[in-house]
Amino acid sequence: MNRSWVTGADRPGCDFPLANLPYGVFSTPGTAARCGVAIGDCVLDLAALGAAGLIPGQGCGFDESALNRFMAAGPQVWEGVRNRLTTLLALDGAGDLRNQPALCAQVLHPLSAVTMHLPIRVAGYTDFFAGRQHALNSGTILRGPGAGLTPNWPHMPIAYNGRASTVVVSGTPVRRPLGQTAPDPAAGPVLGPSQRLDIEVEFGALVALPTELGQTLTVAEAWEHLFGFVLLNDWSARDIQRWEGQPLGPFQSKAFATSISPWVVTRAALEPFRRPAPERDNPLLPYLHEEADYFFDLTLEAHLTPAGAAQASRIVQTNTRHLSYSAPQLLAHHALCGCRMQTGDLLGSGTISGPERPNFGCLMEQTWGGRDPVTLEQGGTRMFLEDGDSVTLTGWGEADGQRIGFGRCEGTILPAPARIGRGH
Ligand code: MN
Repeated sequence: MNRSWVTGADRPGCDFPLANLPYGVFSTPGTAARCGVAIGDCVLDLAALGAAGLIPGQGCGFDESALNRFMAAGPQVWEGVRNRLTTLLALDGAGDLRNQPALCAQVLHPLSAVTMHLPIRVAGYTDFFAGRQHALNSGTILRGPGAGLTPNWPHMPIAYNGRASTVVVSGTPVRRPLGQTAPDPAAGPVLGPSQRLDIEVEFGALVALPTELGQTLTVAEAWEHLFGFVLLNDWSARDIQRWEGQPLGPFQSKAFATSISPWVVTRAALEPFRRPAPERDNPLLPYLHEEADYFFDLTLEAHLTPAGAAQASRIVQTNTRHLSYSAPQLLAHHALCGCRMQTGDLLGSGTISGPERPNFGCLMEQTWGGRDPVTLEQGGTRMFLEDGDSVTLTGWGEADGQRIGFGRCEGTILPAPARIGRGH
């Protein structure tokens, strides 16, 4: 294990040991947002470190309020910065930073004292449907027993284009949406707050390198275009979705908020967790073939805390290995038609469900369409989310006795607007 001199980095269970070094955007009271890296209990200010000449910050845009410029700089720059940060922060590394207490005080901030911001300017948001168990469960719940997978599902990653404008960082409250629903379709639609507000436990991939209009990518090339990964909660209004969803898919039901974790965990940090693709019932078309292991073994959990409750209740435990399409497959498929991909594009995996009920990645599956309530550990039950409920996603991999974690992705439900119109 490679140890660090920064407080907390070697503590068992710490999300941010030296082997992680996830990037984010932070501010301290009275200062502008800039880029940082999490290490132990601290965030290291990359803008200040660059200004002090301790990292090769030229052209990386570390003084900007988004990681986009650094992401666009490409894999060689990422590797150079990561290697230098590792040397500066390792217990047995260069003393350039450690031996300057005044500089340390200036560039290392306790995580508890900073505000985290959205880590990227989100160029586009596409949400996929790459989990087989989720696709099977959804098909059965929405279209009836035996509905199974749609005929296209085993052959390509299905997706819809979501809203980049409503991707929010962890900690941003989520207002319950108003919308049209049809509890009794024969009686026509009604307007009101969604009564079936749900979570979706997902894994988000960030596109770093752009493509030109008309340009395609192999899966191996797509891997090189990806910068890193975040936790993603794709909040969903199931009653609105059910009424609006045919024939063009989700619209209002998914457009009110998508929460992501503030820390972007890089491909380099996730190397120990790479796994081969799952067994498939059918061969994929050649453009989706993978010549390396692009899947991950990472645990994901969701906890629900009712308003005022002292204790969180775990409602989901799943794993990214339950996905059937890898992140570079999603990107290669996205670019196949010649769609221009941009620095800061966010690709959601789709809900990640494992084989058993505790592994199902949303309440619609856990309650089987609102039939069987979920029992909370502190008492009480849920079919869907109530106002004041807070949901927190966490995720991590474990290797060599160390945890590579994603931090937290949290959101609390606010009541729906009382009336329609500006000012409400
Ligand atoms: Mn989704």
